Amino acid sequence: LSGDKSNLSSQEKEYEKALRPLSFDDFTGQFKIVENLKIFVTAAKKRNEPLDHVLLHGPPGLGKTTLSNIIANELDAGIKITSGPVLDKPSDLAGLLTNLEPGDVLFIDEIHRLNPIVEEYLYSAMEDYRIDIMLDSGPNARSVQISLNPFTLIGATTRSGLLTSPLRARFGINSRLEYYDAKLLTDIVGRSAGILGTPIDDVAAYEIARRSRGTPRIANMLLRRTRDFAEVKGNGKITIDISKMALDALDVDENGLDEMDNRILLTIIEKFKGGPVGLSTIATACGEEAETIEEVYEPFLIQEGYMKRTSRGRMATEKAYNHLKLKPDFGGQT
Ligand code: ADP
Repeated sequence: LSGDKSNLSSQEKEYEKALRPLSFDDFTGQFKIVENLKIFVTAAKKRNEPLDHVLLHGPPGLGKTTLSNIIANELDAGIKITSGPVLDKPSDLAGLLTNLEPGDVLFIDEIHRLNPIVEEYLYSAMEDYRIDIMLDSGPNARSVQISLNPFTLIGATTRSGLLTSPLRARFGINSRLEYYDAKLLTDIVGRSAGILGTPIDDVAAYEIARRSRGTPRIANMLLRRTRDFAEVKGNGKITIDISKMALDALDVDENGLDEMDNRILLTIIEKFKGGPVGLSTIATACGEEAETIEEVYEPFLIQEGYMKRTSRGRMATEKAYNHLKLKPDFGGQT
């Protein structure tokens, strides 16, 4: 339930596609970002220029890919989709860039994971719409310049802190997506249920929404699982009882924390006396990758006040103790 895209099955990817909003007006929440993007897109179209390069950052599942597709739609432009780790060699990037039509969008997901050599080539492509390619090597080596059609790069990242400053500086538009509140997620769940043709009570939609870690991808995933329960254990309609049954069965607790959230908090408290403890130590003790904890779990636990990040490591807060019904142990003083 991490909201991470890398472990989605192909069926789940199809499902995501079906639920994806296609226009700005279909997109729920992130109001400020959407309002700004609307203006920038309209202005670019008016001037008949490509949109400035866009950097979208924020935790997985908040709508970065969705927004990129919407931007391309609203620009009436084509979109080519790739990701940092896939662009292994400069020639991979050159192949993509030289195939772009004027005004097209190139979407690079996980742009913080670009190979540094490939990244260098991106600089001139972004700045001057050209790339210098080296032909041959040794004494015959020479470079040829290829001009590109003007295009818009949209980069998405869960870790904007890992972006190099030359790359970051080349984005004219830089937006950070925030977690969604329960009200907005209720709207998203209602909309998705409508597309799926699944009847759902308002209170049930709210129950799923408030237990979705502020993340549309998780809300849609929980909706899908809840629909299974409604079809097998009920009459197909998602009621509050069905949604509670499903969410409990999926180990999503009353506050919307999933099994790994709870394991992380419990580990800090039980094995390390509440912290401070280093990220990699937590990761080993929980059997999860440090990177995943840092990108996926920790931002939500910190935002919701269950965990603190200090210079000496991560600490569980009083809210975490209360949530797990444990008493803080301050060296025997309590
Ligand atoms: P990211 O690229 O940030 O990981 P995605 O754009 O792939 O996230 O979104 C994941 C899923 O959540 C998609 O299926 C999409 O339909 C849904 N989603 C994301 N944001 C919204 C939104 N604002 N309104 C409706 N659905 C959304």
